Amino acid sequence: MTVPKRRLSKMKGRLRRTHYVALVPTLAKCQSCAAPVRPHHICPKCGMYRGRQFFLAPDEIKDKMQPDTQQAQDKKQQKEATKERRSKRKK
Ligand SMILES: [Zn+2]
Repeated sequence: MTVPKRRLSKMKGRLRRTHYVALVPTLAKCQSCAAPVRPHHICPKCGMYRGRQFFLAPDEIKDKMQPDTQQAQDKKQQKEATKERRSKRKK
């Protein structure tokens, strides 16, 4: 293990720490929804970048998922119906 040869003065440490700065991210406006976006990045709110859709916004996904869930429910009902039929046959 390396060991420092000399004790670092308060000033030296403090001077080094003057460069520890929290950077403020530069933000641009989304062209489609006007939300704050990092430049050259896909908008996290609407998924648009340079006029192209890269992913769906959470609200849109919900809208698209609802018919799927209905289909899933229908499938469940069908499965239950087939189970009932099969159980009746056995008896
Ligand atoms: Zn946007």
